[in-house]
Amino acid sequence: MTPAGHKQPSQHAPELRAAARHLGRRRFLTVTGAAAALAFATNLPTAGVAGAAELDAAKITENPFTLGVASGDPLPTSVLLWTRLAPTPYQADSGLPQERVTVRWELARDERFRQIVRRGAAIAHPEFHHSVHAEVGHLESDRVFYYRFRVGSWVSETGRTRTAPSSRSRVSELTLAAVSCQAYHDGYFTAYGHLAEDDVDVVVHLGDYLYEYAVNSVGGVRNYTDQVLPDVFNRETITLEDYRLRYALYKTDPDLRAVHAAHPFVVTWDDHETENNYADDIPENDVPPEEFLLRRAAAYRAYWENQPLRLPQRPEGPDMQLYRRLTWGRLAQFDILDTRQYRTNQANGDGWKTPTPESEAESQTLPGTEQERWLIDGWKQSNALWNVVPQQVVFARRNHATAGNTTLSMDSWDGYPASRRRLLAGAEAAGVDNLMVLTGDVHVSYGFDIKRDFADQGSRTLGTEIVATSISSGRDGAARPANWAGYLAANPHMKHYNGQRGYTTVALGRDSARVDFKTVAAVTTPGAAITTAASFVTEVGDQGLKPA
Ligand code: FE
Ligand code: CA
Repeated sequence: MTPAGHKQPSQHAPELRAAARHLGRRRFLTVTGAAAALAFATNLPTAGVAGAAELDAAKITENPFTLGVASGDPLPTSVLLWTRLAPTPYQADSGLPQERVTVRWELARDERFRQIVRRGAAIAHPEFHHSVHAEVGHLESDRVFYYRFRVGSWVSETGRTRTAPSSRSRVSELTLAAVSCQAYHDGYFTAYGHLAEDDVDVVVHLGDYLYEYAVNSVGGVRNYTDQVLPDVFNRETITLEDYRLRYALYKTDPDLRAVHAAHPFVVTWDDHETENNYADDIPENDVPPEEFLLRRAAAYRAYWENQPLRLPQRPEGPDMQLYRRLTWGRLAQFDILDTRQYRTNQANGDGWKTPTPESEAESQTLPGTEQERWLIDGWKQSNALWNVVPQQVVFARRNHATAGNTTLSMDSWDGYPASRRRLLAGAEAAGVDNLMVLTGDVHVSYGFDIKRDFADQGSRTLGTEIVATSISSGRDGAARPANWAGYLAANPHMKHYNGQRGYTTVALGRDSARVDFKTVAAVTTPGAAITTAASFVTEVGDQGLKPA
């Protein structure tokens, strides 16, 4: 979400224009067409995976583990381990030839690797920028494990991860941290340094893992005196090479590395991993869809290469199956949404606008028809106490803070009210008693009661929405922004509002959930302490946020 900069002339790289021309002026959606265009636009090697020669690991003379390690999407008997080899991360080739590399991994019960439970090898392919996505199966459920990678004589840092409880387990608690929006140029990832020390089971990332905007040579407000960033970062990300390099910049951040090593992540994206406020194949600026889909393909591929995601999430050209379902015993079901890839265009030209027949239309959808059906079907089959929906943009109604101003955010669910109504009706019909929506995007934290009808405050509360503030986007912020009192007054279902940076922890239990909104006073200077700004509970069978 960035309000400014709409419909500016774009500076698309000439190679994308050439590729789009090469394809003709029609929209392409076939896998082969998109893959060929992507290869054309980005000079990807066209040889198959088996085609690359194997690199002798002894030739890697600098530490290849500069981007750290990560794990993700815990299943009851399996973990997904990630790393990417990059001896010189700020160079396009990461300092490696176009050859495959064998990477060994170890998984152990203990941090010192005395009780190793599994060992194996994975191939880091040059086609995927030497990333490794190792699935390790046949593991004991509900256990913590430690892991590390090895290439030649180089050993990575040690990561900590865990399996989920078995699907029938009556596990009694799950603690998650919800995070979003980490603009490198806006500040330090101090909150991640604190979260790395917390005792949480999983971190849920709600999007804006990176920003496409240019980062100048001093790294924005970070203003390093000990390093000058290469010029490659000082332009908007368009090509596969741009997106890959931007991930490299972010992944070298020590706090981000620490939090990935400490906890498994469950990630979903929002707009900035590709481009501000895009909708399906419609970019922010006036660019033909076939040209934008090339950019989207580049962004999606770099996303997959740099995230701890499983094979079903690997993209095919401009398409990537990111929405998916995870469970935590019978305590929680997570339906992780993608509200960017399939959405209808923002109504009324985007921005904050008065609702019109265009925004109120039944055809307006954020998840797309298929994903809406998938979500409601999943709720029908759920036997979980808590149904949690990690997603991107604000779900609850946000009446404008100024008295008499009737505008609503067209990029959020307020711009797609028919879609929101269908989902809430589906949740009620499916008997979802404890619904919790997790949201990012807006760079502030909110706690909302989800009303059956937001225009009628007396209507039933169907669940709660926890909006996690940004890690760094928006710079320091203020605990009480200028519109704080007006916003709370205009929205009685808004139970919490804070404009500082940080993260939010949610402890789901069998009787209630506890929510702690954590903040840091500053991100433009390093080292701020973490404090709990506010705490709430919502009770099983009696939804609604109450001060803890
Ligand atoms: Fe953001
Ligand atoms: Ca966003």
